[in-house]
Amino acid sequence: MGDTECPACGDSYERLAQHWAMSADCSYPPLDRRRHEILSGLLMGDATVHNPPSAANPRMEVHSVNSRFLEWIDEQLAWLSNTVTLRRTSDEIREANRSSALERFASVDYEIRDQYLLTTRRHTELNRYAEWYTEEQKRFPEDLRLQPITLKLWYVCDGNLLWGTKGHTRPQVWISAYNEKDRKAFVRGLFDPTPITPTFHEGRLMLTSDETEWFFEYVGEPVPGFEYKFETGSKEMYEELKEAFYRRHTTTNAA
Ligand SMILES: [Zn+2]
Repeated sequence: MGDTECPACGDSYERLAQHWAMSADCSYPPLDRRRHEILSGLLMGDATVHNPPSAANPRMEVHSVNSRFLEWIDEQLAWLSNTVTLRRTSDEIREANRSSALERFASVDYEIRDQYLLTTRRHTELNRYAEWYTEEQKRFPEDLRLQPITLKLWYVCDGNLLWGTKGHTRPQVWISAYNEKDRKAFVRGLFDPTPITPTFHEGRLMLTSDETEWFFEYVGEPVPGFEYKFETGSKEMYEELKEAFYRRHTTTNAA
């Protein structure tokens, strides 16, 4: 894994979290606002918090087939990130699914890709994210603010572009927020700092085509690895990029 320089004292360690926890002269360096904005967006989407009673502090974990995306997150979090590792190869996943009784897995063979995992180091400031879990369920906190990077990461994890048929040539952004489907006003209120007033129905946020344009202005540049989710030019270009996404940013049996 290699050593990483501690941003607080400048010395290098392989196990930084252990250094912060044990050192008499050094402690947990503060997380800046941008890191918190990124962590919030990830946790709104695909990330989970790992916080067993045996650990002094939580860490965040993100599973994805999109290795490019995880590598980009790794660069953004820098010393806070442990690393990106290959979690399970597509063959291992297929084998596990075959021995599983769940019928639904058998039908999605073509979608099976190698699975990667990014983990952060354990840090005292990650305790606030452990608090998102209430009664085994993930809930957005009341003080959540949708900064552009936060909204953008939530979108690439849980959102997509919807292309209509029959003359509808402008796509619409939708984002799944099933865990919050009972808090309509709260979820819509999250968009107060943006020019968007989405509808929220059955756990699904839907933007109009105009709001979709404002959305992309607000969030800015595409997230590396998820370029296709930012392609609003035409359905053909979108589908071309989506296919390229599987070719470029995912693998099968990398091990
Ligand atoms: Zn240090």
